[in-house]
Amino acid sequence: MNIKRFHIETGTGRSAEFTVPDHWDFPMVTCLCGKCAEPFFNRSDRTIIRIDPFQYKYDKCDICSDDKGHDYVIFEDTRLMAA
Ligand SMILES: [Zn+2]
Repeated sequence: MNIKRFHIETGTGRSAEFTVPDHWDFPMVTCLCGKCAEPFFNRSDRTIIRIDPFQYKYDKCDICSDDKGHDYVIFEDTRLMAA
């Protein structure tokens, strides 16, 4: 399996390197609370990862504006994308 590297930066100055399978692409940085993040964990065509697993400070969730958001990056599985 081929891999590739992404350097991901958030709007709030956090950054991280991710080494991912070649078929993961289109990284999207987003801030989500637990409730809004949960549906992504169950999707087979997306992979969601905490950008900073040690992030202790909450930010505003991009979807519901709840103040309990953490920064995530969401990758799409290009093998499952509609043609
Ligand atoms: Zn939310």
